Amino acid sequence: MTSSSTLAGLLPVSTAHTAAVTSLPCHDPEAADLFFAERPAELERAKELCSGCPLREACLEGALQRGEPWGVWGGQILEAGRVIAVKRGRGRPRKSAA
Ligand code: SF4
Repeated sequence: MTSSSTLAGLLPVSTAHTAAVTSLPCHDPEAADLFFAERPAELERAKELCSGCPLREACLEGALQRGEPWGVWGGQILEAGRVIAVKRGRGRPRKSAA
């Protein structure tokens, strides 16, 4: 059995599953960049694409276990290994401390 890592949560995947994995939204060359985008709207689009994924729970669990530094995994935005509700876009820093 051959295995490899994939963008889909870096889950070990057998050769027999390759076709199914490559059909995942995060493997679509047109959409793959959305999962690691800087813009909040693009990350929200990636979250939407995850919504129908059969690997969603395992993907998120794996990403949390690995402490993924950023990206959309299992329909959630991760930053520094934790789920965050919303990623703020780049912008002008606050004038005063919050
Ligand atoms: S849940 Fe999202 S990131 Fe994870 S494998 Fe599915 S489409 Fe890809």
